[in-house]
Amino acid sequence: MTYIKNANNMGWNFDNTYINLSDFFYSKINIDPVSSPKLIILNEQLAKNLGFNIDSLKSYEGTLIFSGNKKIEGGEYIAQAYGGHQFGHFTILGDGRALLIGEQITPLGERYDIQLKGSGKTPYSRGGDGRAALAPMLREYIISEAMYGLGIPTTRSLAVVKTGDPVIREDIKKGAILTRVASSHIRFGTFQYVSSFGSHQQLKDLADYCLKRHFPHIKDDSNKYINLLNEVIKSQASLVSKWQCVGFIHGVMNTDNMTISGETIDYGPCAFMDEYNPNTVFSSIDRNGRYSYKNQPIMTEWNLCRFAESLLPLLNEDRNKAIQIAQNAISNFSEIYYSNWISIMRSKLGLFDEEVEDKSIIKDLLNMMEKYNEDYTNTFISLTFDNNKESSMYNSQEFKYWYKLWQERLQRQGKSKEMVKGLMMNSNPAVIPRNHRVEEALDAANKGNLNVMKRLLEVLSKPYEHSKKQEEYSKLPKPSNCPYRTYCGT
Ligand code: AMP
Ligand code: MG
Repeated sequence: MTYIKNANNMGWNFDNTYINLSDFFYSKINIDPVSSPKLIILNEQLAKNLGFNIDSLKSYEGTLIFSGNKKIEGGEYIAQAYGGHQFGHFTILGDGRALLIGEQITPLGERYDIQLKGSGKTPYSRGGDGRAALAPMLREYIISEAMYGLGIPTTRSLAVVKTGDPVIREDIKKGAILTRVASSHIRFGTFQYVSSFGSHQQLKDLADYCLKRHFPHIKDDSNKYINLLNEVIKSQASLVSKWQCVGFIHGVMNTDNMTISGETIDYGPCAFMDEYNPNTVFSSIDRNGRYSYKNQPIMTEWNLCRFAESLLPLLNEDRNKAIQIAQNAISNFSEIYYSNWISIMRSKLGLFDEEVEDKSIIKDLLNMMEKYNEDYTNTFISLTFDNNKESSMYNSQEFKYWYKLWQERLQRQGKSKEMVKGLMMNSNPAVIPRNHRVEEALDAANKGNLNVMKRLLEVLSKPYEHSKKQEEYSKLPKPSNCPYRTYCGT
């Protein structure tokens, strides 16, 4: 494996700290080069924010870095070890097809993991080929960037390269590698792994590492590990409330797919809901609806319980006391979630202040949307712009009654119509990555045409802009007899 010598000139600026933890937490990897790497897409804005020289990333040398064919001097190429509850069952996992190549320090001094996903086998591959196909990697690119545009904490996508090698799935696919950017890749499952198989000291080391990296304001607290748990509860409650309010369904909320940083990670079978239905499930492998839309907050809480369990030895020396502390912390989850959720929902309905009946105004609307099969995103848009009232819901007596109550509620807060509309425009996205649009972009990309995807990305990057060109992207798919199905992105 050869090294890139002038990496600093390209803007690579690594300072690797994860490697200072014991090698229990990772394995060093020698990457297998790919046949003929080709850059498919580069996220130029993100690259700039990370401090990279765009032209050099676009050059062939840049492509060789993104494919793993050349290493960056100063990079530590490691696969991270972790475990996780997959659909309720604990398993040892780890980066089976991903590599952390280093921690990039941006010009503003922020630290981001740079990870190659689809880069080949690691000791954690468990029989898998370590590779990824083009369409799922581009899909992760689209959805993660859409989430970023929506203001939802997420890992991001810097680049996708085609490898020139086939990957064998149900048929032969084009191989690809996604370069993913994250505040870190530390998962609930990383804690579960060390708590099950590591020493007390190693658990402490990981917790201290997370405190320093993600929660420096509490790292010296006398009860810092309890506060770590509280911070993770808060950030996950906030994250899942944001998912619910845009109709995002993650699809595979296993504990290895939950980050300590509070970013959405591992875009596999995720998708956005069109018609409002709390039971919506897209993932073909989620047969019992464990990770359905309505279950997402409950499953977040379940996952937090698993995280809290892994922290028990640090919460108190006395196990019973530690359990009590963990239970107290977790018992706050539903209230924190609810207050996040209702505050976003109030904004979506143009409410600046709080009244006790707000919950029923919101719930009544959601119930009608479910009853009349209304589109989740577009209902809020038509309320924002007071248009499109042709459907059976809008013509129903119950909606008219609801609308009158809502208008009265808006009157009582004494804000101008412009202010209400402004708040609603900033709180209700005009566009989400509609499944049929994502599929259309991926189909074109698979045939070598990236323009459809680039146009989609452009629109998704400003969902609150409410511009003319977005209208086309807010149209619903044609009615179909088959529900949309997603597959675990392999
Ligand atoms: P995911 O469902 O994508 O979060 O993946 C679950 C686990 O399976 C992770 O440990 C992945 O690294 C691993 N994995 C997924 N796909 C592959 C693959 N093609 N080869 C090896 N490991 C994989
Ligand atoms: Mg995963």
